Amino acid sequence: MTKIAPAIIVLGNKSIPVARKIISILPEAQLYGLAGRTSEVDVIFTEFGVTLRELFANGTPIIGFCATGILIRTLAPLLANKRQEPPVLAVAEDGSAVVPLLGGLNGVNNLARQIASVLGVKPAITTTGDIRFGVTLEDPPVGYRLSNPEYAKVFMSDLLAGHAVQLKGKAAWLRNSSLPIAQNAERVIEVTEKAVFSTATHLVYHPATVAIGITPLNPPLQRGEGSELVALVQQMLADAELAPASVAGVFASISDAAESGLEAIANSLNVPIRFFTADAIAQVMSQNTTADVAVAAALAASGGELIGQQQTANFSCAIAIAPLPIDINTTGTPRGRLVIVGTGPGRSDWMSPEVKEILRNATDFVGYSTYLDLINAFTKGKRLHESDNREEIARAKAALDLAAEGRFVAVVSSGDPGIYAMAAAVFEVLDKQAKPEWQGIEIQVAPGISAMQAAAAKIGAPLGHDFCAISLSDILKPWSIIEQRITAAAQADFVIAFYNPVSKQRTWQLAEAQKILRRHRSPETPVVLARNLGREAESAVVCTLENLVPEHADMRTVILVGSSKTRMIQKRDGGIWVYTPRRYDD
Ligand code: SAH
Repeated sequence: MTKIAPAIIVLGNKSIPVARKIISILPEAQLYGLAGRTSEVDVIFTEFGVTLRELFANGTPIIGFCATGILIRTLAPLLANKRQEPPVLAVAEDGSAVVPLLGGLNGVNNLARQIASVLGVKPAITTTGDIRFGVTLEDPPVGYRLSNPEYAKVFMSDLLAGHAVQLKGKAAWLRNSSLPIAQNAERVIEVTEKAVFSTATHLVYHPATVAIGITPLNPPLQRGEGSELVALVQQMLADAELAPASVAGVFASISDAAESGLEAIANSLNVPIRFFTADAIAQVMSQNTTADVAVAAALAASGGELIGQQQTANFSCAIAIAPLPIDINTTGTPRGRLVIVGTGPGRSDWMSPEVKEILRNATDFVGYSTYLDLINAFTKGKRLHESDNREEIARAKAALDLAAEGRFVAVVSSGDPGIYAMAAAVFEVLDKQAKPEWQGIEIQVAPGISAMQAAAAKIGAPLGHDFCAISLSDILKPWSIIEQRITAAAQADFVIAFYNPVSKQRTWQLAEAQKILRRHRSPETPVVLARNLGREAESAVVCTLENLVPEHADMRTVILVGSSKTRMIQKRDGGIWVYTPRRYDD
């Protein structure tokens, strides 16, 4: 349900000044530039067709600085469902033409008008009804739903053929259009939240004016899956003869955010949930002398009139109607989201598509400044909360607090977020210092490629059999434990990945680890020192346990120490592969 930011596709630097003008009115848009031909863009792509088809398939509006023919030919194999296709428009390199191509039911003409207006040209709109009457009946503005879209086309053809139309109900966009409105016309367009019957000559738009307020009555969360609540809301809507399509959203107090019934009801009506702070609810309660949080939430959302209120043993539910469609983006706050993402070791093509999608949509980024720098293509115009790498617990708390305000927070770690990184810190805070307002936050961990995997891939398959990872940092755990672990791992003949081997303050630990290992493993054991993986000056150097020089490692190095089975293979070019066989039969 989140609105996807448009992608502006440029194939050369010449189009960029015009693209920037478009971005001035669509600040969330991402600028995609062809590799080698463009500079200072948000996202670099190499494959035009693949990139465009991927964007189109996930519903991203596309503004292409290229010939209409190229766009049509590229997207033709995907054209199947016009109700679902995103807006696609072509813009001439010098900004002299704006041509809406696809997505007529998803606002392409309006987007073309906006873009053309900032470029000072006339959009090439070809939709007859749109030109003649200034409206697209099949694509009403945000806040209105057409109950019978299948009739809209014929209805519009009738009007174009000369029929007049009677307008019932309020909607400025229809009233102010050039539709042939006449009082007693046979054809009717009705705007109503009521569940009225529609026909081929009677179009019905449902305005998003109905607010449903919910509050649980018994604190424990043992209320099943919310089916009781869904039945109650459906009954209340039916009793009031309201169309479910007019429901703008489900509204509640933020202190009830963890209640699963809210999700059930919002999903059943396919509407978003928005929350109000306890203060906002208290204020509405005192203004309206009600003690019911559900009533207060419905009134806070609608600023209108209460039309129904009912209780079951477990819930109170209220319905209110607003005078105008409720703008969900400015009413209450959404459920907060916190995603702890792993960006991989550094290279953008080693970052998962899931992580990229999250980074594109997050509103706030929390992380160490070096990591945030690595993803600056995604952070433009977003809120950045940079911090010192050591302040993990404070950072986790701050991230949860932000999410509790309804923000979409990405906590950024390099590599994998669950390996010596922020995910554990978030769960530690949730476990030990939980605040009630964090209960309703949707939390997710999005994995990344960890340094040891990147190192292994670079050098062969050293982690091919049983292995373990040990951090040599004794900041969060005592050295005695680390010593024991190295000994145990060495005795158990695990391949070992050492993270955090050295830092400016911690200079002796790696030499100490080497000493311990020498007691258990042959001096010939292969050791891989992998530095700056996926970044500039990447290197992976192989030595033996005996030859390992601890000073060659730094805090950007991960070290893999082989087991007794790990082997080296000489490559023809002088390089070395390292692998650990999976068979133990020789
Ligand atoms: N979450 C990260 C690990 C963070 S701990 C991951 O999964 O990779 C930091 C340590 O990881 C560094 O001291 C180093 O040992 C290793 N590391 C992180 N990025 C690296 C890179 N690009 N190249 C080599 N080692 C790296």
